[in-house]
Amino acid sequence: MAQLDSKIPPGELSEKWTDYRSTVKLVNPANKRHLEIIVVGSGLAGASAAASLAELGYKVKVFCFQDSPRRAHSIAAQGGINAAKNYANDGDSTFRLFYDTIKGGDFRAREANVYRLAEVSANIIDQCVAQGVPFAREYGGLLDTRSFGGVQVSRTFYARGQTGQQLLLGAYSALNRQIGKGQVKMYNRHEMLETVIIDGKARGIIARDLITGKLERHFGHAVVLASGGYGNVFYLSTNAMGCNTTAIWKAHKKGAYFGNPCFTQIHPTCIPISGDHQSKLTLMSESLRNDGRVWVPKKKDDPRKAIEIPEEERDYFLERRYPSFGNLVPRDVASRAIKERCDAGYGVGASKQAAYLDFADVIKRVGEDTVSAKYGNLFEMYEKITGENPYKVPMRIYPAIHYTMGGIWVDYNLMTTIPGLYALGECNFSDHGANRLGASALMQGLADGYFVLPYTIGDYLAGDIATKPIPTDHPAFAEAEKSVREQIEKLMSIGGKQSVEHLHKRLGKIMWNNCGMARNEKGLIEAKAAVKALREEFWKDVRILGKADEFNPDLEKAGRVADFMELGELMIDDALNRRESCGGHFREEFQTEEGEAKRDDTNFAYVAAWEYKGKDKPSELHKEELKFDTVHLAQRSYK
Ligand SMILES: Cc1cc2nc3c(=O)[nH]c(=O)nc-3n(C[C@H](O)[C@H](O)[C@H](O)COP(=O)(O)OP(=O)(O)OC[C@H]3O[C@@H](n4cnc5c(N)ncnc54)[C@H](O)[C@@H]3O)c2cc1C
Repeated sequence: MAQLDSKIPPGELSEKWTDYRSTVKLVNPANKRHLEIIVVGSGLAGASAAASLAELGYKVKVFCFQDSPRRAHSIAAQGGINAAKNYANDGDSTFRLFYDTIKGGDFRAREANVYRLAEVSANIIDQCVAQGVPFAREYGGLLDTRSFGGVQVSRTFYARGQTGQQLLLGAYSALNRQIGKGQVKMYNRHEMLETVIIDGKARGIIARDLITGKLERHFGHAVVLASGGYGNVFYLSTNAMGCNTTAIWKAHKKGAYFGNPCFTQIHPTCIPISGDHQSKLTLMSESLRNDGRVWVPKKKDDPRKAIEIPEEERDYFLERRYPSFGNLVPRDVASRAIKERCDAGYGVGASKQAAYLDFADVIKRVGEDTVSAKYGNLFEMYEKITGENPYKVPMRIYPAIHYTMGGIWVDYNLMTTIPGLYALGECNFSDHGANRLGASALMQGLADGYFVLPYTIGDYLAGDIATKPIPTDHPAFAEAEKSVREQIEKLMSIGGKQSVEHLHKRLGKIMWNNCGMARNEKGLIEAKAAVKALREEFWKDVRILGKADEFNPDLEKAGRVADFMELGELMIDDALNRRESCGGHFREEFQTEEGEAKRDDTNFAYVAAWEYKGKDKPSELHKEELKFDTVHLAQRSYK
């Protein structure tokens, strides 16, 4: 059994990272040249890590399943990235960003990690500006900021509604520079399908060349996973269609513990589902809640159009319930409030499963041109999808799956429970507790990649300088490749009747209905049995077109859905185990009289880290107790 040691450095919270950096072991430049590191993922976390490690002198191999690193899901990020720079002079500080994040996560994250994140946040902006990222600027030339949910300051840096794209182009340029110098070898269209462990340490991966179908063995002194989130377990989500769990799930099955798998984020402002044909949901960025006002009619089942409903007959329910934060309450709080109004019969639109996000006031105040300069591309996207012009009529929005706070458990060094295996960005469980604040994912991914891993990995590799590259004919590589080959052969041999897509959609429905925005014991127990039955059906009746030794998206998806089925069960186990509500994990049995999440700090102030024990065997729960030395545990209030 692996040891669960969070390795938080001793000392004052505000000094931990500084002291760590001054005392951590180093690898000298000559030795770095002989050390090889595999990075799985080229999104913001992976690209920033790979570029930084290569810059330091390590030999790096990067893998991604897209045709270019630039197509990683990070490119979809819209609204912005947080940093405690206090440019707005509105009272922001490192401590405030730390506190907002701990509170926003409903006190289920590690203080030391979050403080470090807040500390390095300011460096990220400097780094990106130096790379040429075109952040929005004010008339005087200073970088502009705006507000996101769960905070009362303006600390979100942005590049219109394309912040992820611009940041990724910056990280990609840094990565490309290293590719050009020969420090990084890029493997596009390659999917990692297994981790190779030798003498208890991560020493490589098995990857499939997605064009030829050929399996490849790759050695690394260390392996870094930066493979993104697993929100697509719900089938419908705002994530890119390719986002999946395979890389981390395979690592989990090889011994990496999975942290808080049931902590998933529902985003309040997504375009509502329009029918059963849909395979993707679209986000309307949280930045819109800076100026958009959320409301429903005061009358149930009101048949009138939005513009026909007079002001006094509108219920601005977020402003009513949470006067201090208003429309900028955190995502979990806003999502639940919208669902509550719709469930109570006040929803709008044909499905009655939507609320309005209205820009009439801000347009009256500053004019269409100013609104367009800030949010133009989002308004355009909304109009293209719905056929409605949000400058003239309010947007309709409803909550949807957006992000996964859970992920592979990592210690302060970002190392998993497998020595030499690291996890960065959305695929780890680290900094957001039970609910992530808006604009904090990009901050975390880039903090991990540019500023944390480059230090922490050296501490491990300093002990590995004498290890020569291990030849890939080692039995552990052969064994790992064999298991991948057997799974592919098994999938191709089933020849059933149901498409992968159809089975995925069925899984998503079970997960959303029972382990989505609201969960209860009965539903979770039923869902567990349903997912298990569906998994068995999948392995008997899935139909995969094409062949294994060619470009075969159906086969790729089948492997990913097979892993989602197993992960789904673990998420349900985790949700069942956590008999409290916190952040995005809302157990209906545990709520306050006002319908807010009711935590149980006596029994659940811990990270649930699950150990895989084998096929059809229950996973074992390990608890990492969360100690709060600096913040006071309290019921969250945004009133
Ligand atoms: C629509 C949308 C808007 C968002 N807007 C914001 C925002 O404004 N601000 C904010 O902070 N956050 C935002 N987020 C969240 C944020 O975009 C993500 O959390 C973040 O980009 C994840 O980055 P990452 O590097 O961890 O993973 P990703 O960008 O998902 O990259 C994953 C990489 O791993 C690779 N990969 C995965 N599995 C394998 C495998 N098995 N083998 C090989 N390669 C693999 C992929 O090819 C890819 O390169 C948004 C999310 C969505 C869905």
